[in-house]
Amino acid sequence: MIIDLYELLSEEGRNKDVVARFESEKFNTNKKSYPVKDSNIHFSFTNTGKKNVAFKCDGFVTLMIPCDRCLEPVDYKIDIDYFEDLDMNKTSEEKIAELDEHFFMDGTKFDTEVFISNEILVNLPMKVLCSENCKGICNRCGANLNMGSCKCDSAGQDPRMSKILDIFNQFKEV
Ligand SMILES: [Zn+2]
Ligand SMILES: [Zn+2]
Repeated sequence: MIIDLYELLSEEGRNKDVVARFESEKFNTNKKSYPVKDSNIHFSFTNTGKKNVAFKCDGFVTLMIPCDRCLEPVDYKIDIDYFEDLDMNKTSEEKIAELDEHFFMDGTKFDTEVFISNEILVNLPMKVLCSENCKGICNRCGANLNMGSCKCDSAGQDPRMSKILDIFNQFKEV
């Protein structure tokens, strides 16, 4: 969603409140893609005078991220809580020079999708587990061991076999 702050800037003290969702069906990083299950984000902009805008944002996005061990999708809620004073006097050249460039702003237009994407990215966990006790998948037959044990004997792994498994795992990660 694009929120235009042009009218807000015409009058000091003026406020603009918008509730938006993350509109994409999937959140994509350069390596992975996670389905978006739910989202609700409240944006609040207040004209504090002299073309300054107090910007506040809070809400959440829930992504479905595969468990690091068993690969079952896990609902992972990312909380968004953000506050910043936006100085609308600065030209884009000044912003680049001061490393204050906001990709979610284009003139007076605020792009909620770009802003939320960035917040998800900085809050994305390294790994997600369905449970602390997740038993993972059998690395021989691929069975989900949370559903019960498989026929392979995972307790006593043959050292000759683990060499082969290393090679197998290399291929799996590609
Ligand atoms: Zn798991
Ligand atoms: Zn197995």
